Amino acid sequence: MNAAAAPLFRRLRTTAAGLAVAVAALAQAPAQAALSFTLEVVDPNGAAASFKDQIHSHVAAALFHWGQHIDASATVAVQFHVTDAVPRAAAASATSAWVGFDGSHHVYDQGLSHKLRTGVDANGAAPDVLMYFSPTYMSTELWFDSDPFARSAPVAAGRTDAVSIFIHEFGHALGYNGWGDLTTGALPAGYASTWDTLTRWDGQTLWFTGANAMQVYGGAVPLTAGNNFHVGNLYGAGSDLLTDIMNGVVMERGTRYHISALNVAMLTDLGLPMVAVVPEPAQWALLGSGLLMLGWLQRRRRELPLR
Ligand SMILES: [Zn+2]
Repeated sequence: MNAAAAPLFRRLRTTAAGLAVAVAALAQAPAQAALSFTLEVVDPNGAAASFKDQIHSHVAAALFHWGQHIDASATVAVQFHVTDAVPRAAAASATSAWVGFDGSHHVYDQGLSHKLRTGVDANGAAPDVLMYFSPTYMSTELWFDSDPFARSAPVAAGRTDAVSIFIHEFGHALGYNGWGDLTTGALPAGYASTWDTLTRWDGQTLWFTGANAMQVYGGAVPLTAGNNFHVGNLYGAGSDLLTDIMNGVVMERGTRYHISALNVAMLTDLGLPMVAVVPEPAQWALLGSGLLMLGWLQRRRRELPLR
């Protein structure tokens, strides 16, 4: 959106309060990660003005819950857009970072993942994570938790748990994203995300083949038919994954979803510094060996799709 064309464009900067909540979150947890954050809410029409506090608390909580599984510290710059351009919710890292050449593709990390992994912010002071939420979805479907850290109150039976959605959306920013075809995982010429390099299409199902994920799941992980960058299916392969917070089929109303061991394993496979006992995958050694020789001209950042 062009600010000049929208005179009522309103930005609510809540950076200081964001840090305060993040500090509070750290105080109550045996934190593995120090994921503090800044939050900018972009709500040009004030459509979600009454949700300002909930947006803040749920961003804080989602980062807190992921932070329990990530062995890194960072301040995550979140830009949250209230917009009718999406039917429900979508998010992505705002940029990507080149990490290597795998023999056939230049491989890119999610910008947020890269920041957590290396300490380097690929796009400097610009936001790390872009989130887009429909105001109608927020007001008529989501159930905002009065304590999104404890998550103990019953979720309203007829509503979707907002904390689950916020965690899910940050999952896309952390690793569940790329440029592969939604059904087959087929790639554009020459480049791939870390996720894309670990998917395999067998003509019927798209699978995630990271070593840690396969160890946790007991084999290749079935991704959602027609909805790559998610796990699970309504029928057949992956029908046992519908309770996973990163499932791409349905988020049941009245249901609270939690970060799973599979989510942690998948992000480990994607190179994130997760709190886990599983070993690093061998892929990164291969990528590293190619660093010096290949593709310097291909290293510009690439924009990621929203998920
Ligand atoms: Zn999703």
